[in-house]
Amino acid sequence: MRCNLRETMLKLDRPVPRYTSYPTAPHFQPLEDEQLYPQMLADLPEGARLSLYLHVPFCPKMCWYCGCHTKVTQRYAPVEDYAHLMMREIEILADALGSRGHKISHIHFGGGSPGMLRARDFAFVMDRVRENFTVEAGAEIAIEIDPRELTEGRVAAYAKNGVNRISLGVQDFDNTVLESVNRPQPFELSAQAVEWFRAQGIERINMDLLYGLPHQSPETMVATIEKAISLNPDRLALFGYAHVPWMKKHMRLIDENALPDKTMRFDLFEAGAQTLEHAGYIPVGIDHFAKKDDALVRASKEGRLRRNFQGYTDDAADALIGIGASSIGFLPGGYVQNAVDMPVYRERVLAGKLTVAKYCPIDDEDRLHAGVIERLMCDFGVDVGAQCAAYGFAQEHLDSEIEAVVRYADLGFIEIDGRRLKMNPKARMMVRIIASVFDAYIPNVDALAPQRHSKAI
Ligand code: SF4
Repeated sequence: MRCNLRETMLKLDRPVPRYTSYPTAPHFQPLEDEQLYPQMLADLPEGARLSLYLHVPFCPKMCWYCGCHTKVTQRYAPVEDYAHLMMREIEILADALGSRGHKISHIHFGGGSPGMLRARDFAFVMDRVRENFTVEAGAEIAIEIDPRELTEGRVAAYAKNGVNRISLGVQDFDNTVLESVNRPQPFELSAQAVEWFRAQGIERINMDLLYGLPHQSPETMVATIEKAISLNPDRLALFGYAHVPWMKKHMRLIDENALPDKTMRFDLFEAGAQTLEHAGYIPVGIDHFAKKDDALVRASKEGRLRRNFQGYTDDAADALIGIGASSIGFLPGGYVQNAVDMPVYRERVLAGKLTVAKYCPIDDEDRLHAGVIERLMCDFGVDVGAQCAAYGFAQEHLDSEIEAVVRYADLGFIEIDGRRLKMNPKARMMVRIIASVFDAYIPNVDALAPQRHSKAI
């Protein structure tokens, strides 16, 4: 049965959104009404808890698998200039929000390589955040770290400015794999980074790994995971590499003959997941693993796990505010995205304007579909009728979608009990395909544009 299920999953694997948002980013539209975002900010309730995401779109070298908004620069001047733009944007946002008792519960620096900010500039940005917002005591302050960029001085600056979680970009520890994607990064660099962070009292350590890279095999995957575990991280993410050279030209530099096929991708994930679970890590969502006493595991057990652009989180903030070029925010009224184009972003900040260039308003119907998809992606199960009722709809409102799930139940991917859905634990990799049935923006799921999305496995 297991063998048949695996074969069926491989046969039905197809491109589907990752559902880090719903509606998904391709549905964002150009924002013409300059008053809309200020109004969305002003509509936030008094005392709302906010999460900040600060995007630093620079890297010293391009990794060929990269799918992020980033630009290569060897010079520091553009990064320093950008730090000043972010500082100004923080003030513009604070003005638009007004003094209405908002509190910051999470701050996340992503990129690109936010570690390119020198210690002094990182401190300036954090000072500007604290001058303009009330940061809750105990707020999570996280930064994505490229171990190749790290210095002891920067680690000290992070500790001094309240950073209490880091995400270490590892991808793999096999030299052949790393060379093939233009990211040589010896294990010792990651080990050194972890040692420096722990010495400064930054104990919460995440590691990001990738499967689906050239030359990976189950053996190299197990060896990489074992090395990662030896550094004792709290959380590991095992993301699937999405090869989309028609969207990201640098991916053309990757030798496609060395890329694992669909069956191998499946085996790579299984080898990685089994090694992690054997070592005591608990699977969280589709691609995260955490120690059993980690906050993400607690959130998962208690049905509080959320999914956003950074992956899985226990962040319960009322809104996510994006800062920096291309940053995405989420407010009760919908999604917003800052200008991706650096000259446009720069011009708007210097003119004292908010920098949002795209948006996606959401209504109650979207909220319901988003709610069902999020629960599926986080809990691998959902009571669709209860969700309909919670969002003010009749319990039978999504019955035609449940009807469309029956074919997957017949294949053994999922159980249907009335309006309750529960994934077969052995078919969890297919959850994005089940979620896509509830995506009202895809009228014909089987006709999904392959160029837009990565495959489920
Ligand atoms: S360090 Fe990260 S953001 Fe920068 S090029 Fe590599 S993968 Fe992309």
